[in-house]
Amino acid sequence: MQVRNPPDAPQPARCRATTTCPYCGVGCGVAVELEQDQDSVRIVSLSGDVAHPANHGRLCVKGSALAETLSADGRLTMPQVRDEAGVLREVSWETALDLIAARFADLSRTHGGESIAAYLSGQLLTEDYYVANKLFKGFIGTPHLDTNSRLCMASAVVAHKRAFGADAVPCSYEDLERAELVVLVGSNLAWNHPVLFQRLKQARIDNPLLRIVVIDPRVTDSCEIADLYLGLRPGSDARLFNGLLAYMADRGRLDRLYLKAHTLGFDAALKAARREDCSLAAIARDCDVDVERLETFYYWFATQLHVVTLFSQGVNQSTSGTDKGNAIINCHLAGGKLGLPGAGPFSITGQPNAMGGREVGGLANQLAAHMDYETPGARELVGEFWNAPNIPQGPGHKAVELFAAIERGEIQALWIMATNPAVSLPDSTRVRAALAACPLVIVSECMADSDTLAYADVVLPASSWSEKDGTVTNSERCISRQRGLLAPPGEARHDWWQLAEVGKRMGYQAAFGYSGPHAIFREHARLSGFRNVAPRHKAHKAGSKPLAASSIRRLFNIAPLAELDREGYDALRPIQWPVRRGEKGELIGTLRLFEDATFNTPNGRARLVPVTPQLPHQALSDATPLRLNTGRIRDQWHTMTRTARSARLMNHRAEPFVELHPQDAAARGLQDGALAQLAGRDEQGSVRGDYRARVRISHGQRQGEVFIPMHWNDHFASHGRAGALLAGLVDPFSGQPESKHGAVDVMPLPCEWQATLLIAPGVWGGHEDLAGAMTELEGCYWARIPQTTLVRCQLAGEGQPDWALWCERHLSVQAGLWAQDVAQGGISAAGFREGRLIWWLRVTAGAARSDRQPNIAWLGECFASDQLSALERRSLLAGRLSGQADVGTMVCACHQVGELTIRQAIQSGDRCVEALGARLACGTRCGSCLPELKRLVEEERSDERTDSLEMA
Ligand code: SF4
Repeated sequence: MQVRNPPDAPQPARCRATTTCPYCGVGCGVAVELEQDQDSVRIVSLSGDVAHPANHGRLCVKGSALAETLSADGRLTMPQVRDEAGVLREVSWETALDLIAARFADLSRTHGGESIAAYLSGQLLTEDYYVANKLFKGFIGTPHLDTNSRLCMASAVVAHKRAFGADAVPCSYEDLERAELVVLVGSNLAWNHPVLFQRLKQARIDNPLLRIVVIDPRVTDSCEIADLYLGLRPGSDARLFNGLLAYMADRGRLDRLYLKAHTLGFDAALKAARREDCSLAAIARDCDVDVERLETFYYWFATQLHVVTLFSQGVNQSTSGTDKGNAIINCHLAGGKLGLPGAGPFSITGQPNAMGGREVGGLANQLAAHMDYETPGARELVGEFWNAPNIPQGPGHKAVELFAAIERGEIQALWIMATNPAVSLPDSTRVRAALAACPLVIVSECMADSDTLAYADVVLPASSWSEKDGTVTNSERCISRQRGLLAPPGEARHDWWQLAEVGKRMGYQAAFGYSGPHAIFREHARLSGFRNVAPRHKAHKAGSKPLAASSIRRLFNIAPLAELDREGYDALRPIQWPVRRGEKGELIGTLRLFEDATFNTPNGRARLVPVTPQLPHQALSDATPLRLNTGRIRDQWHTMTRTARSARLMNHRAEPFVELHPQDAAARGLQDGALAQLAGRDEQGSVRGDYRARVRISHGQRQGEVFIPMHWNDHFASHGRAGALLAGLVDPFSGQPESKHGAVDVMPLPCEWQATLLIAPGVWGGHEDLAGAMTELEGCYWARIPQTTLVRCQLAGEGQPDWALWCERHLSVQAGLWAQDVAQGGISAAGFREGRLIWWLRVTAGAARSDRQPNIAWLGECFASDQLSALERRSLLAGRLSGQADVGTMVCACHQVGELTIRQAIQSGDRCVEALGARLACGTRCGSCLPELKRLVEEERSDERTDSLEMA
């Protein structure tokens, strides 16, 4: 019965607000409805912000599930300090901050500021980043401040600087809609930037002349909209684009006027390209692509002016990622395909604020506000602006090298913010050892399930999305407000506040006495305009007086935003940098850069860079014959600390997996759904990493290559760390690791049984209880999959455990139902407390996945029920009600529609995505699953065609 409030009771107030999604670099606007009563504020609904220029109201499945990730459970709420016994103990903020400031001051005195380092994240807001950069580089005096954005787009940053003289992305999302040709290189846009993919898909519908080319070793869901697919050999991108440059030159498709007037270096770049045979046949051979497809791509690119080449981690995460970026940019410059509507090279960032970090100097080779150490006068300019005594002399260690310096003992204190390097960095086992040996590790984090916390000496509870207040910059240079809507739980505090408090305790009260993010943003905006003058070549041309020696021209300039008052900052609408004032004083952003073909180099010309293609540095061998590709999946984000809190996001790919070609699987005796083990080798030939995962056989995978997701951490899988397999080899210019080109072998994981265990939340404290219980089972694999009313665990192991004893010992209550198939070695069982289902177990013998999959959704209802009916109780051991079908792997996370349900619907006559939507509702909300639905339709229809041909 619903109880109504009495008429005179105060009604909760409702209001609307807008903010920005914290996941990918698309940077979608989010509209929320808030309900406020005397005690609290809640988000009651969430949707895309129709007024935001990035998404115009769309959200992908991750964005639309944001409200499901906000529970205070599993949040860090108190500062902690590790005591002499090695136990983390809760302390006050005063104690934690005093300790950090004292240790930093002591280290500065005894070992110098360079013994202190910071490792930040593209999850931080610009204001957090700004204060961190100022504290470490300006006052502690260490250049060793880097960010996990190094793993994502550092190669593109260097490519931009080499070509344009500034880390400047020329394009806007709108250019995708105005192009005649869009080339996706190393980018599974459909999964990694879903809203941008939807915009591109709509653009193709609106403009039938728009062509789309996908260049990727894997056939991904982005191929749904491709007119042409090039499944190139991993690492051959530079050869492909060098060949394109030569093709354009040979076919008279260069823009000679543009090259002559606005660029330098074309001859050298072409000469470098021609060092190898530039015949189509030779390039097709080296890139392992069909020669006709290659020629089609080259012809389309060379003959269209309005071309956007969108590139992402598939290009960047390489030991020659910078050169690959420049090989792409070279082709755009050579054809004058830049600075026009619908034209330009377009690097898409992975993280929500990778660009914001670059703006403030969050990379170790940067100083601040788009200035670096190499620029004469930059150190002095920044030092003067900050009134900072300790600006470092030169660049610091980039991410991988930073952890090597910790390993060598050169870094004595490390402050990690909003990132999980124990999982995400390559050679992560070595990274863990370095963290364990570091005398002082401080971790600012909001979630308790970050593996890096295990190495923390000081834990600082941080605010999270919906609580943090500041700005982010997306892939198209658009600055948006991420608004603080809810109060952080417990004693959690903002990252900028934590940094500023340490700065003040170290004696720098004046520099860090910020009243809030508004004050920080204004200072950041002022620095962007501080002695930032017009281009030298323009000033000379105009005959104006020589520039002051201390002036440094930067494209990044948002100085007009420094005038925003608090209300103006709070109300700031998305705006693309550079920002200027119009004639009426209005703020004007910049949709597209280089429209006047003037670049940020000393002479105003863009530079073509000679590129020598290189193979991946992680070498294949007899022991590691398979090329390893790592990447993101549709419904998870980073190391899952946030997205694993949403049950529906866990079900698309519930376990770590390895995708491989049918012939590679057959050669190793691997079947779809079985468990496999992957290992790499280090330089000495010793095993590197141990990754265990479910096999997915895929025709979209090239033979000799495998793909694994990058997300799983130790809280959700026993052996799911992709980074453990990778060597810490990096691009020499950008320092970006070669995460797309590991070398591994795959083999069946020996196991004698597999099990599905469902357990009520709270029976086990977390993954430690599961891992501990598994040691008694001779367990070799587990994956933990939190759901709304239960926690699902997939287990595998060897031997013949005494299951009854194990259940009694570890599952809090004895089995109330038990069925054993002695001949088959199978067990089904369930445990109850006061009539309520507490656990459910099914064990099957052998290494193959059982055909009898339980209906987890129905069992979830049973776990939620206070009193099971007789029928439900009778059906428990079967794992489903009689007549209930297996729905299969989840495809539509919004409406929880599984693959088998969809295939059955297609077989019974729903032969298009629209018909499936009408019948099952799949694909009708956020649209993230539409490519997968289309692929299933095509697969089923091609099976039908094959069947009818065989019958004929
Ligand atoms: S595409 Fe999805 S994950 Fe990326 S910003 Fe938009 S809603 Fe967030």
